[in-house]
Amino acid sequence: MTLRLFRAELLSVATDPRDDPEAIRHEPDGLLVVEDGLVVARGDHATLAPRYAGLPVERLAGIVVPGFVDAHVHYPQMDRIASHGEQLLDWLERHIFPAEMAFADPVHAASVADAFLTELLRNGTTSALVFPTVHPGSVDALFAAALDRRMRIVSGKVLMDLGPKDLRDTPEGARADSEELIHRWRGRGRLGYAVTPRFALTSSDEQLRQAGALLDAHPDVLLHTHLAENKYECAAVAERFPHAHDYLDVYDRFGLVGPRSVFAHGIHLPDRSCARLAAAGAGIAVCPTSNLFLGSGFFDFGQADAHRLRLGLGSDIGAGTSFSLLHTAGVAYQAALAREVRLDPFRALYLATGGSAALLGIADRVGGLLPGQEADFVLLDDAATPLLARRTAGADLATRLFAMQVLGDDRTVRRTYVMGECAWDRGIG
Ligand SMILES: [Zn+2]
Repeated sequence: MTLRLFRAELLSVATDPRDDPEAIRHEPDGLLVVEDGLVVARGDHATLAPRYAGLPVERLAGIVVPGFVDAHVHYPQMDRIASHGEQLLDWLERHIFPAEMAFADPVHAASVADAFLTELLRNGTTSALVFPTVHPGSVDALFAAALDRRMRIVSGKVLMDLGPKDLRDTPEGARADSEELIHRWRGRGRLGYAVTPRFALTSSDEQLRQAGALLDAHPDVLLHTHLAENKYECAAVAERFPHAHDYLDVYDRFGLVGPRSVFAHGIHLPDRSCARLAAAGAGIAVCPTSNLFLGSGFFDFGQADAHRLRLGLGSDIGAGTSFSLLHTAGVAYQAALAREVRLDPFRALYLATGGSAALLGIADRVGGLLPGQEADFVLLDDAATPLLARRTAGADLATRLFAMQVLGDDRTVRRTYVMGECAWDRGIG
């Protein structure tokens, strides 16, 4: 048994502050007690410390928040971030598909997986729902690297039998590969599996049917795909599936819309889709930096909130422009305001932690830094740059948090802890 005590300013938003007035939990001088990687106690230092008298206490300078949870990110695209000039469908053809072909090589996959997980930790992200490529080996590489680092990573082989040549599977082969991967990785470390059709246009009807069958057969796996990101994509989907009510209905007809479903984007959704998503308990991973980068549009928080949709936050690397979910939260504020909604900084923190964790079905384990949860947390520095230091000096908590979201990025992350152990330290690297 190892007991570790951390004294620091603590902040978490485990549930949506729109629904729960008690959601924001803040101890200006707090104590976090970690036993064998789990939070066993948390509270005001003066109140809690006498219970642990005589034990060494590590003093952390900065604000401790739960480790960020990236609800949508593509690890094979990290080296194609900042690729110039195209909207979604052309960008995929020109920049992304060629990069993904290289993942047929397991050595390449292992090398990128390692760099990717390091980048997550540098940015304070300790859990993520990740797109690999069509190659089963790309999943093995990511899971092996995550297992080494004890990170909570959910992923699954991309299904795309209508993808470009050299990046194409078959419905039967993909089903068998997925079954094998689920069998190989189930229950290992903190890993989880997601059935991952790329999107409606890259899978045949038969493959979408097989994806639904996989979900049915494995009640512990998620469904992870894209939905209504770009207007040309939406038009192509409507053309291929003329009998579907809308884009979401395509997935619904194959049994892919339920409480374990995570859809990235949802920029162009009719109210009918929102009502159906809400009724099914499915979630949306909002990816604002990606939506701006590819000119896809602004997520409609007003519409989503009117339907009480479950939301999380995703970087969507490599269309997204930052691994930092702090920065992504700041851009979410700007995207929301473009559609007349003011996103509260505490709610933005919720989306990047507890909200995303709920989408991934892991909110009982991470996202709130609450007793019983795993001790994944980030030590933030609200004076990481001279400008941040000026803006946050003497400011109240909401101002400091918002300033870190608007001005912060990986520089704002002083340390990242996984299961109570320091996994990244800005001072050491
Ligand atoms: Zn994506």
